[in-house]
Amino acid sequence: MIPSARVCAIVLRDAHKEEGNPMKLDGGCHCGKITFEAEADPEDARICHCTDCQLLSGSAFRTVVPTVEDGFRLLTGEPKVYVKTAESGRRRAQAFCADCGTHIYATSVDEGPKVYGVRVGTLRQREQIVPRLQLWSRSARPWLGELETIPKVEKQV
Ligand SMILES: [Zn+2]
Ligand SMILES: [Zn+2]
Repeated sequence: MIPSARVCAIVLRDAHKEEGNPMKLDGGCHCGKITFEAEADPEDARICHCTDCQLLSGSAFRTVVPTVEDGFRLLTGEPKVYVKTAESGRRRAQAFCADCGTHIYATSVDEGPKVYGVRVGTLRQREQIVPRLQLWSRSARPWLGELETIPKVEKQV
């Protein structure tokens, strides 16, 4: 991460800590088997442009909001977990619905309190969650900056 982005992230984090404004969220997978509740500060929402997020999501980037510690509770269903090992050697548990394939969260594989990186698209409140930071911008798809110039249709062609 470039130093200025790091400073910016720290400033954003400290600013919100004073306000301390986590929000109750809930969501689920496409087939409906997995439902959950979570608690997270929408100000912490970020985009990840890393190539693992591109591959695992099958999309250009992933949008995530980290929960407060242990701020995730399954209501129904049980996700399948795939543990990925990053280039750095860091292992992350990726939870998804084994029936419909919806990605739900990623978290650490260590013991102790966990922060869950909830996939914003699974949240009922996703309209209210605007990402505040872009990580791994060096592998961002180069056309993202030109999105506004790509022709749009309201539904499908
Ligand atoms: Zn499902
Ligand atoms: Zn990523």
